[in-house]
Amino acid sequence: MAALADLVRLFFGQAERIGDSSLTAPSDLNLFLTSAVDPPISAGKARLVSRSGRSDQEVRVTSRLEGKQADMVSERIPLHLLRRVLKRQLYLLLSRATGLDFPWGSLTGVRPTQIALEVINQSGEDQAAAILSDYWRLSGSKAALAVKTALAEDATLRQLEEDDVMLYVGLPFCPGRCLYCSFITQDAGRQEGSLVHYVDAVIREAGGIFTGRFPGKIRAVYYGGGTPTSLPPALFRRYLEEVLALAPLKQGAELTMEAGRPDTLDREKLEIIRDCGFQRLCINPQTMHDETLRRIGRHHTTDQTVASFRLARSLGFTDINMDLIAGLPGESTSDLLDSVKRVLELNPEHITLHTLAVKKGSYLDRLFDDHGALLPDPVLIEAVGEAHRLLGQAGFRPYYLYKQKNCRSGLENTGFTRLAGSLYNVAMMSDQVPVVGLGSGSTSKVILERTARRLHNPKDLRLYIERVDRQVAAKRSLFLSES
Ligand code: SF4
Repeated sequence: MAALADLVRLFFGQAERIGDSSLTAPSDLNLFLTSAVDPPISAGKARLVSRSGRSDQEVRVTSRLEGKQADMVSERIPLHLLRRVLKRQLYLLLSRATGLDFPWGSLTGVRPTQIALEVINQSGEDQAAAILSDYWRLSGSKAALAVKTALAEDATLRQLEEDDVMLYVGLPFCPGRCLYCSFITQDAGRQEGSLVHYVDAVIREAGGIFTGRFPGKIRAVYYGGGTPTSLPPALFRRYLEEVLALAPLKQGAELTMEAGRPDTLDREKLEIIRDCGFQRLCINPQTMHDETLRRIGRHHTTDQTVASFRLARSLGFTDINMDLIAGLPGESTSDLLDSVKRVLELNPEHITLHTLAVKKGSYLDRLFDDHGALLPDPVLIEAVGEAHRLLGQAGFRPYYLYKQKNCRSGLENTGFTRLAGSLYNVAMMSDQVPVVGLGSGSTSKVILERTARRLHNPKDLRLYIERVDRQVAAKRSLFLSES
């Protein structure tokens, strides 16, 4: 039901559940839509079969739109596809009734490439894009992107070994808050007293989890947040050195530092990052226009981005990612393409092109209170397509992608690389690899029979620090019970 509600929200901005099997949404179109499964199947059985990824049973699924715009779609399908097909039928009927077409069609979930890979495996690479377009209703360019990216993700995941685990270390502090952020981030400058207690708690958490028997080896580490580089240098060094010393790292583990805000980087911090063995660095301009940076509450300039990038290069970083965001408030197509070209001039190894997500709880949410801002905007869709073409011409290829709720025009975030992409990024999005999350608001997961079981650390800073031992115990039992 949650997935169907997300799909309805895409068209109407809101969807409210009524009981276990109905939804209502505000619209002056007066649409009434029903779906039926023959023979009837309980929600519990449908869930179980869907998780298993296979079934011997077939069912007929029929969705009907009643009233003036009467319409119907009906098909026989294997039972394990029920949830997806219900979404597809709902998408098809709503799309025809409203005249709206989203670039990713009925694939509204986080990982459209998962479905693309299944289509490739079942029908072959040559047929996959056509099936994604015709059946799942993706636009031609998104179908091609899904096929290319699904194959790249699959190749990356094949490099993983059975005992590989990912490690995420989160720091919920930033130097000020970006307009579009819904994260639980605190102002590092104003919370100076808390920083040391927080770092102590993370080190304690790492010690508790990794001391003694731990089932697995850490294949990739990601220090994210927030902005880890907003810590003062001595504390930053401890935060890196002590957690890494406790973690059972695999030989040659991939280490990534999110140094998102260029204004938090200087020679001293970059040297600490390099000396702790991090090969990958993320320096995120988001846009190469100072006026937009001011508008979105990022207190750095494009000159600082360029200077931080050059400094990192001069200190030996040869694996740098830069993030850009399409659809920022006040930006035109030429602003976006200009940002892409200026980042390409720096020649980083990876560029991630996000689409602005209007998240609940962000300052931006108040600006975009009209749902129209999330409906398909042909200008923005074309701008993102053109940005992809520019990246392709410069030798960058997509290596992972994911979708978020409330992204403008229903678009996606795509990671491009001209070398090899980040193992961590691909593994994290796949839901096929266990993850240990350290720090407030982080999530740990183990994978059991194709299903991820998750454990969330408290988002509240004080609670996280107070309950760190309890979190360690819960995490140990999660990981050890699955080994
Ligand atoms: S840098 Fe990232 S986490 Fe920090 S305020 Fe901006 S969007 Fe939020």
